[in-house]
Amino acid sequence: MATVVPPLPLVPLHFGTNLTAPSSAVPSGRDTFSFPLPLSVQTWAVQMVVFHAVGLLFEAMDHVPALRSSKVRATRKSQYMHLLPNVLRNQILVLLPFMFLMEVFGLAFVGPSLHPIRFLVNLPLMALGHEIIQYVGHRYILHAPNVFLMKFLRHSVHHSTRASSAISACYMSPIDFFIEIGCPYLVPLSLVGGGGSGRFFHFLIAGAGAIGGLYEHSGYDFAVSFRPKFENLGEKPMSEQEKETAYKLLERPSFVTTFLADFLDNRAHLEHHMRGYVSFSDGFGSPSILDTLLRTKWDLSDRRRADVEREWARQHRDE
Ligand SMILES: [Zn+2]
Ligand SMILES: [Zn+2]
Repeated sequence: MATVVPPLPLVPLHFGTNLTAPSSAVPSGRDTFSFPLPLSVQTWAVQMVVFHAVGLLFEAMDHVPALRSSKVRATRKSQYMHLLPNVLRNQILVLLPFMFLMEVFGLAFVGPSLHPIRFLVNLPLMALGHEIIQYVGHRYILHAPNVFLMKFLRHSVHHSTRASSAISACYMSPIDFFIEIGCPYLVPLSLVGGGGSGRFFHFLIAGAGAIGGLYEHSGYDFAVSFRPKFENLGEKPMSEQEKETAYKLLERPSFVTTFLADFLDNRAHLEHHMRGYVSFSDGFGSPSILDTLLRTKWDLSDRRRADVEREWARQHRDE
């Protein structure tokens, strides 16, 4: 007599929690409804929407004459369509699989939703972890003075954009993208416990990271409106009114203008793209702790240049 095998019950797979646990083992506090996509893929999709919407907004801003005074690194023509295929390749073929594998292996995007205190503690920890991994990879691997590594990693592709177009934040070779974008995001995430399965934490981290990267590569520095302006050699002479405003800002800085001038200051990464030997941390939104401690902050660049000259001289002497 043939054995009748009962059909398997159709249980929806709850990605975003523990992929190996039965649904009855889902801890309390997780989101009460599920999307048909794994949480890592949802987070990637949110980052794509934020990245490309804000990237297009920056592109549109280039056509607004009133904003030209804040565009400190301009190009003759738009680079947007030239940069887009490389950017999409990196986001689809490098970032998406990396994020999904983190979830499959239970390193991130799994577990219970974060307790509010853990949520708040994880944010600065993520910022610090991002800073350390970004700095080490960027300075000691991508900018290592080694001809073989330079040719292999091709960090020059990213530097070729001069940080003058927002979406150039992701314009780079795939291996460079893995080191500079993937690892500083996903390694700290796994080290803080993976961020749990709550959507808000992951969407916030991914969205904020996208906006920061876009701004620091946009060629805009919105702090110029809040910083005292002084004449540089070769520039159009300032009017008496402009000089008066600059002195007033310098002598009587208000809390609001000082805060905005510091918060919106976008010079660090712009200087990195120009000089290559300063500001290896992310520019905007980064505490720049390592750049400060290791004396590579962009506004210490004269000293940094002297260090580099000394190192080149030493290597030359030792040859
Ligand atoms: Zn850059
Ligand atoms: Zn670089």
